[in-house]
Amino acid sequence: MVREKYKPVLIVGGGPTGMMLAAELARRDIPCRIIDRREGPNTTSRAFTIHARTLEIFETIGLADRFVETGLKSNGFLFNFKGLEKKPVLDFRVLRSRYPFVLVYSQADTERVLREHLREAFGIEIEWNAELCHLEQGEEGVSRVEFRDRKSDQITSMEPSYVLGCDGVHSFVRKSLDLPFDGEAYEGMIMQMMDASVQDYDCDPDWVQYFMINENFLLTTPLPNGNCRVLISDMGETAKMEGSRVEAFQSVIDQHNLAFKVQEPEWITNWVIWKRLANAYRKQNVFLCGDSAHIHSPSGGQGMNSCLQDAWNLGWKLAMVLRGEARPELLDTYETERLPVAKQVIDGTDQMHDIIMAHGRGMSERMALTETPNWQMSVTELVAGISYTYRDQTESSSAADDMEDGPCAGDRAPDVELALEHRLFERFRHNGYTLILMPQVGVPSECNEASAIRDAVDANFGATISTFMASDEDVAALGEIYGSDGAGRLYLVRPDGYIAFRARLGDAEALTSYLHSVLITTN
Ligand SMILES: Cc1cc2nc3c(=O)[nH]c(=O)nc-3n(C[C@H](O)[C@H](O)[C@H](O)COP(=O)(O)OP(=O)(O)OC[C@H]3O[C@@H](n4cnc5c(N)ncnc54)[C@H](O)[C@@H]3O)c2cc1C
Repeated sequence: MVREKYKPVLIVGGGPTGMMLAAELARRDIPCRIIDRREGPNTTSRAFTIHARTLEIFETIGLADRFVETGLKSNGFLFNFKGLEKKPVLDFRVLRSRYPFVLVYSQADTERVLREHLREAFGIEIEWNAELCHLEQGEEGVSRVEFRDRKSDQITSMEPSYVLGCDGVHSFVRKSLDLPFDGEAYEGMIMQMMDASVQDYDCDPDWVQYFMINENFLLTTPLPNGNCRVLISDMGETAKMEGSRVEAFQSVIDQHNLAFKVQEPEWITNWVIWKRLANAYRKQNVFLCGDSAHIHSPSGGQGMNSCLQDAWNLGWKLAMVLRGEARPELLDTYETERLPVAKQVIDGTDQMHDIIMAHGRGMSERMALTETPNWQMSVTELVAGISYTYRDQTESSSAADDMEDGPCAGDRAPDVELALEHRLFERFRHNGYTLILMPQVGVPSECNEASAIRDAVDANFGATISTFMASDEDVAALGEIYGSDGAGRLYLVRPDGYIAFRARLGDAEALTSYLHSVLITTN
């Protein structure tokens, strides 16, 4: 049993990030403990948007249907600028993904599904009331940690192999490592939101609606449980209003000339927003992941999604390194890939923020920001998480330089409808890399080359790479998206669904040298 060979990984924080990491490690047989200072599960709805890339990730681990069947599919975001007739949209129905929508889903339910998955698939339970209180870093990294039982005050110590700081914005792990978390507040702005039942809802329920006037911003959308999310942002005026919170919210709804009436809320909260980024994601054997590493404006609802995508990036790398299947340098790529993505998310949410929450600025000026070339498509793909790329951090075969079509090394590997009602993504549902071999139809020499590559890869990396020799029908379907220019190709796809490497079939040597630079032969 592989599990018994390793010291466990300690995951600090049982939020979405910590649970995704636990699932990624556990499915590769890496033992882990997941502790959380809370008394038990969080029951508040918080993040209500699950985007396409996150659903693709959930599909890989067999959970997407559970989400899609019980969530609400929204077309996307519809922008109403007071006094202007034009209504720009971010319409997610155009996405080239199996999930062309925004799934409206309460974070409490997202966390419940992940908890159930950990329990059912791996027998893992979050250890509640367990608060990390001491993290000792020596020359070799953290060798010992202590956590306190918040009920009994009893201290437990542990010697983990790695510590994963998924402990949110106020991360104890980050502070213990002295890692700066630089940034700033959106000065003076106050966010307030409630989940409440409403009467006479007069907005199109198929869209998350954004309403802007000079003074404030109002967001509203139905939630799967029949309530509505109503969110207000302004420079503090509503917070100062006399009367009940329901009256204050209603007065903002009235300002937007909407007819619906909010009732007593099931949950109400307010908060101030920040944009902050840790200057490093790793110190020796400790990693930061999720909100502990970055926070930003909630515009576009990307927070939880990018946290889950961080965990998706780190989990397989750590597992493969611990299992001795990949070189330790692979772990450095977590920061080099995800930190720039966090910067892009911060910049992107900042731009969206200028459109919807630039309180005091005129409507036409804000509308103009939605009229830049390709705004709709580029923003939709970014928010959905499908166009982030690690191109700049990924090496490729020099022989691939002349490939003018198809995804590049570092890009998300797109799905393809294959023959016999199969999809390419089904090929990615395992723990390792996938090598796609695309010999040209009717060229026997390429079939021979592809077979030789498959045999060599199976012999040397059989435990970590699954090869997919595309049939003639599949080559034709793949060629539409992965390119076809008169010579067969190969694509190596990482366990997280990103292209690791691409080359011509005739460039087997380049593939071999790439594989040896990242992986360790297993046979
Ligand atoms: C009001 C609100 C609305 C939001 N709306 C959206 C949205 O629409 N879309 C979206 O994508 N995102 C949204 N977000 C952001 C989203 O909720 C976060 O990005 C997400 O929860 C981050 O997940 P995480 O696991 O990294 O951290 P968290 O969910 O914060 O989990 C961290 C966990 O660590 C535990 N912990 C902390 N310190 C310790 C310690 N010392 N020892 C042990 N455990 C510890 C905490 O108890 C907590 O359970 C919203 C957030 C808020 C607050």
